[in-house]
Order: sequence, then structure tokens, then C-alpha cells
Amino acid sequence: MILINNMFIVEKLNSLKKSKFRSSFHLKIKDKQYVYEKGIETIEKHAYDFVMKRLSPKIINNDGKQTPMHGHPVFIAQHATATCCRNCLYKWHKIEKNKQLNKNEIDYIVLIIMSWIKEEMKN
Ligand SMILES: [Zn+2]
Repeated sequence: MILINNMFIVEKLNSLKKSKFRSSFHLKIKDKQYVYEKGIETIEKHAYDFVMKRLSPKIINNDGKQTPMHGHPVFIAQHATATCCRNCLYKWHKIEKNKQLNKNEIDYIVLIIMSWIKEEMKN
């Protein structure tokens, strides 16, 4: 069970910023334009969709390779927030592998992705 509150998300984002690799990811101008055009609610729907399809199943055959490095702002956010694959989810967020993700975990993952995107949009 993950306690979801703003302080927890802020601290998690801060610790990710200390990682040279994670902090190297940023939204490009065209990614930001895409977020503006679609609207943040639609981007959040996309995030749920990607997380459900690519991260939540118990068995993922291409784990570690399921999240492209570009092509959608959510993909960039997933690399930046270490929610790109089940190994990273375990390492950074202590979400166990080899199990179906529950709703709390999916909500948490989408929340951290969206928090990162919203922060990027301010820059
Ligand atoms: Zn990963």
C-alpha cells in the first residue's frame, strides 16, 4: 500500500532529480505543444492507458523495452520518473514485480507522471 499525498510526490520527484540519468529527460517544445493542444485531462487519459496496457499486467514479455524514448510526453515522463518498466518501478517505487498492479498503484504511477509533466510545462 502506497500512501499518496502531495508531500510524498514532491519528495519522490526531488530524489529523481538527483539522478543524473532521470534528470536528463525533459519535454521538448513539440511535446509541450502536444500537451497544450490535447489538454492535460486527455494526457492523463493517455497516461492511464499506457500504464494499464504496458505496465500493469503480471507478465510483460518485453519488460524494460515497453516504453519508447520519445513519441509521447507520457513516455518521456515515465523515463524521468522511473515508471518506465517493472524493474524501475521496483527499484525506485518499491512496487513488486510479477504481480498485477492494483488501482492504488496505477493511480500513484499516473499521479507521479502527471506531476512531472505539470512541472515541466512551467519551464
Ligand atoms: Zn525502466
